[in-house]
Amino acid sequence: ETIGATLARTVESYGDNLALVDAATSRQWTYTQFHRDVHALAAGMLRLGVNPGDRVGLWSPNRAEWVLTQYAAAEIGAVLVNLNPAYRQNEIEYALTQSGTSVVFAAERFKDSAYASMLAEARPRCPDVREVVLFESPQWAELLAEPTAAEMGRLSEIAGSLGPDDPINIQYTSGTTGFPKGATLTHRNIGNNGYLVGELLDYTDADRICLPVPFYHCFGMVMGNLAATSHGAAMVIPAPAFDPQATLAAVSQYRCTSLYGVPTMFIAELALLDELGDDHRFDLSSLRTGIMAGSPCPEHTMRQVVERMHMREVSICYGMTETSPVSTQTRVDDPLELRVGTVGRVGPHLEIKVIDPVTGDTVERGETGEFCTKGYSVMTGYWNEPEKTAEALDEEGWMHTGDLAVMDDNGYVRITGRIKDMVIRGGENIYPREIEEFLYTHPDILDAQVIGVPDDKYGEELMAWVRLRDEATDFTADDLRAFADGKIARHKIPRYVHVVKEFPMTVTGKVRKVEMRAEAVEILG
Ligand code: ATP
Ligand code: MG
Repeated sequence: ETIGATLARTVESYGDNLALVDAATSRQWTYTQFHRDVHALAAGMLRLGVNPGDRVGLWSPNRAEWVLTQYAAAEIGAVLVNLNPAYRQNEIEYALTQSGTSVVFAAERFKDSAYASMLAEARPRCPDVREVVLFESPQWAELLAEPTAAEMGRLSEIAGSLGPDDPINIQYTSGTTGFPKGATLTHRNIGNNGYLVGELLDYTDADRICLPVPFYHCFGMVMGNLAATSHGAAMVIPAPAFDPQATLAAVSQYRCTSLYGVPTMFIAELALLDELGDDHRFDLSSLRTGIMAGSPCPEHTMRQVVERMHMREVSICYGMTETSPVSTQTRVDDPLELRVGTVGRVGPHLEIKVIDPVTGDTVERGETGEFCTKGYSVMTGYWNEPEKTAEALDEEGWMHTGDLAVMDDNGYVRITGRIKDMVIRGGENIYPREIEEFLYTHPDILDAQVIGVPDDKYGEELMAWVRLRDEATDFTADDLRAFADGKIARHKIPRYVHVVKEFPMTVTGKVRKVEMRAEAVEILG
């Protein structure tokens, strides 16, 4: 069914339930109120001349207006183009032009991002854009006016004409390994993925999900919003952009049962709890579950989340934008060992395989290869980029992820890294992930990333970038050698150590190893 049909069913069953909370402005919507505003905005979009299939851009950090725009666009069959709040002039012009966006909804500004003025500057160069609506403008308020009976009639007519295989979303990837690619996703793709992710977390209408993860990415929009609205659960937005303090405060205040984050977010929340000590004012006792995903989830951090944040049923999901996003997920009843150490098993109604990237043959269980997946979740393609689509999707419909994985005899998958990040030192394949996991066990290390750097003798050498805990003063390559000696094989001990305050990150909270490698080359001269 369509996203609009799912929402209508939820409203029928759980109309009085809390649907949406915007903690920064203390605004709240029940499902009935939410549906009313979604209909009003959908009618407003029709008045603006938006037709089914038109691209509607959305450029804003997390806030209630984002979610209303998402569902209103779905209601009229418009294709939502999610624009990264970190984009600057060139990137926004590229995305608007590449997607052929005609109407843009945007926040006026956030911190040093002046969306309104960047859009004003972009317009002469983006001829497809006919209209820019700012959330702070009187026009936005007018769009939310009570729809007329004729408009409501038109909305149900459109709803009847939409099908699950219509595109609903151009979803740009995080840009971790290069320029973001726009995955075209349908109602069937993301509606089912959101619903099934929620099923495996045992969501009911009693759940409240705290969402510090960006909505512009599938993690927030699908695993968060669509999982919530298909179960009658509440979406709680702690702040426009990630802030550990605001996140934990929102969990306490709104008694959230579920909390999402990429690993770095949970690391920051745990560090905040450490800093505040036993008498912190956060009440996390309402938490039951949540999701860690997006990049390798350190086992140590997972265990801490279970033990110190009450998230005993926390799940790890693995996936990518191109697959709506989730492909594998740990289940509530998986043994703890596997819940903290693997990305779980294949999701319902999907197929997965691990192949030799050269021959294309499926490898033996326990061996490393490229992770591929097939099924309802796979995008129809990259928007207007047939060559890139053909590189990623084969004729049989398998999506080649570029991620390295190992599947055990029981179907549990471990992600060992990205093909592009694998280091080959003296002819030996080294997976940075394994060394990162080891570095996390050092008491002074808060966060660690390992990359390969060019080396005359071995082809590549390993370099560890580390963020230290506050108490720790220094950490050298000698310290690392002393710590690692006898614990991991010699050739896996990083030759170089680089201490930093922060890693270069994407807005989705992923470490940009491409940038780190470039910087490392400069450091090493
Ligand atoms: P780009 O494709 O633009 O370079 P990206 O791949 O980071 O960026 P996303 O689609 O947001 O863009 O992220 C998907 C990738 O994130 C996966 O291919 C995988 O490398 C990584 N990933 C996601 N979840 C996990 C996880 N649980 N464990 C390890 N890696 C993960
Ligand atoms: Mg990718």
